[in-house]
Amino acid sequence: MIKNICVFCGAGSGSSKDYSDAARKLGALIARKGIGLIYGGGKKGMMGAISNAAIDQGGTVTGIIPKGVFSDNLINKNLTELKVTDSMHSRKALMSGLADAFIIMPGGIGTLEEFSEVFTWAQLGLHAKPIGLLNTNRYYDKLIGFFETSVTEGFFDSVHLSKLIISDNPARLLKKILDASK
Ligand code: AMP
Repeated sequence: MIKNICVFCGAGSGSSKDYSDAARKLGALIARKGIGLIYGGGKKGMMGAISNAAIDQGGTVTGIIPKGVFSDNLINKNLTELKVTDSMHSRKALMSGLADAFIIMPGGIGTLEEFSEVFTWAQLGLHAKPIGLLNTNRYYDKLIGFFETSVTEGFFDSVHLSKLIISDNPARLLKKILDASK
């Protein structure tokens, strides 16, 4: 049963409108399903797009922000709840702890770091929460290619890669995640 989904995504918007459109679609879908959105608390870029879309649909949105790292004018104050943690580490632990599933949308190095941790921890058996990768505009094709290389070169077990749920469509990705948790 999925009550809360943690979405990791870029603080920026990327160069194509398709990225923020996908973020808005996903935020609205999550809210309409009555699922809570857990995310990094930003008000700009992909983070702003997904959180505002979910709020506009009457969704429950929890932003989790580390104390003193981001300036106040970058934080979305229009959320159901804003939780402030002592550090980036405790922020990520809280985000993961509250989530029943994870979705990774396009983003930069910060998003990659967040994805790597939840994917690694799944590989270690520390959690069994579904992980979805939203491959808007085939943004993650080269990363998926790297994972495949890692499997063929013997560094990564295909069992774990096969558990990663991938789609370029927000509605299909969400459906696959909900189906995986049944
Ligand atoms: P990136 O993918 O490099 O854009 O980084 C996204 C991640 O960076 C977020 O999930 C946060 O951990 C962090 N981050 C960067 N800027 C902000 C911001 N203005 N508000 C909240 N988190 C941010």
